Amino acid sequence: MTLEASLRGIVGSAQVLQGDDLAAYEVDWRKRWHGRARLVVRPGSTEEVAAVVRACAAHGVAIVPQGGNTGLVGASVPDGSGTQVVLNLGRLNRVREIDAANLTMTVEAGCLLQSVQEAAQARDLLFPLSLAAEGSCTIGGNLATNAGGTQVLRYGNARELCLGLEVVTADGQVWDGLSGLRKDNTGYDLRDLFIGSEGTLGIITAATLKLYPRPAAVTTALATLAWLDDAVAFLALARARLDAALTGFEVMNAFSLELVRRHFPQLAQPLPPAGWTVLLEQSAGDGATLAAQRFEDLLADAFERGLIADAAVASSLEQSGAMWHLRESIPLAQSLEGLNIKHDISLPISRIPAFVRSTDEALARAVPGVRLVDFGHLGDGNLHYNVQAPEGVPADRFLAEREAEVNRIVYDAVTAHGGSISAEHGIGALKRDELAQRKSPVALGMMRAIKQALDPHGRMNPGRVL
Ligand code: FAD
Ligand code: ZN
Repeated sequence: MTLEASLRGIVGSAQVLQGDDLAAYEVDWRKRWHGRARLVVRPGSTEEVAAVVRACAAHGVAIVPQGGNTGLVGASVPDGSGTQVVLNLGRLNRVREIDAANLTMTVEAGCLLQSVQEAAQARDLLFPLSLAAEGSCTIGGNLATNAGGTQVLRYGNARELCLGLEVVTADGQVWDGLSGLRKDNTGYDLRDLFIGSEGTLGIITAATLKLYPRPAAVTTALATLAWLDDAVAFLALARARLDAALTGFEVMNAFSLELVRRHFPQLAQPLPPAGWTVLLEQSAGDGATLAAQRFEDLLADAFERGLIADAAVASSLEQSGAMWHLRESIPLAQSLEGLNIKHDISLPISRIPAFVRSTDEALARAVPGVRLVDFGHLGDGNLHYNVQAPEGVPADRFLAEREAEVNRIVYDAVTAHGGSISAEHGIGALKRDELAQRKSPVALGMMRAIKQALDPHGRMNPGRVL
């Protein structure tokens, strides 16, 4: 029997897509990676996923797991060979259980992140993972990339929010590792191997996630400042004053907000342009009045110390949403401006001002007129340090001619400052060769041994990560 026929037998003809139906599954969100799939299969249950994996294994066919296809490193679309099967998890979208007393929920991998948040909210609980793609990315994709987002400072990244997994292994067995246990020291942590593995070790079909009480009062503000040193000092002050109530601390450079102004002129920007703008958020468990006072005191103190020049505090949920909308419009505004060279880097927070100062200068010397879209999660030491072509230079030419040189300048500086070349987006195809250059041979050797043990025939998302 052909692979096509056996897959139709497993999932039904309507869920095996071929020909013209494949286009949306073959190109990534940034439209940077265009592949060709043999077919797309959309199983509706864990058992169907396992049967699909066994059928592909029997035919020696490689699988690209795909959730919402919002990944940014070219790992969720097939390569150009036309031989790979895209296994899309979108139909595994049930919330299986919410255990309010244990503060956990068990959901299937294809649930949209936003649906997971809403299911928690409906029980007056919080699932804190939060990112601009939440309306289209899936929890399976979030775990496979160990996504970060805007509340890592307080709640951790996807890894820290996950207690258990259900996984279909590369040979088509089901591992039921779903558990709501916060403590479980029974040998190697298999869950943590699959989190962040970008579909290269197995397929996540469900997860048990941590929930939190919903905060009683959320306060959001924007503040402008001249330079990043002040932002780092302001962050330290905010942590000291607000402690665990500080749930967000984002920075945006002037050019990233200028791009938002250019491409989304309808979005009001409450503060005049400045070198840097911080978006900070407090989520407090205590009363709104007390929390608001503490927040006002923090801003007044920062102003007095000369750390911030100006601030605007949201006085309604709507205004708070508008502030976040500004921040979250940066990725879209920069893609409307044209493809750029993305760097999702992390550094010790203390080193960020020196890194930005010297790398901005080095890039300006190498590429006169270069434009830097620099924004990100300062509270986690994570910058999206993106390099846009000089005004008037076509983006495709800029990438073709300068990408290697720009990456070398940025990643050499990241290494020199003790940072990482991927903070939250992963490695995928985009940074695979860079990883091979920069990770220690010992670490790479252990990673290859794990890959060999769990996917000996190299059929799970080949060519990604390693
Ligand atoms: P996909 O893109 O479909 O897949 C991503 C990877 O996971 C691929 O390697 C794929 O093979 C694998 N995969 C997917 N599902 C499974 C599964 N069930 N089992 C095994 N492997 C699987 N990321 C952040 O961390 N923080 C941010 O703040 C952030 N902001 C973003 C903003 C925008 C506008 C966009 C477009 C992306 C952003 N991202 C961010 C990127 C982020 O990686 C994704 O949005 C998200 O985590 C991927 O989920 P997905 O379902 O779209 O996965
Ligand atoms: Zn981010």
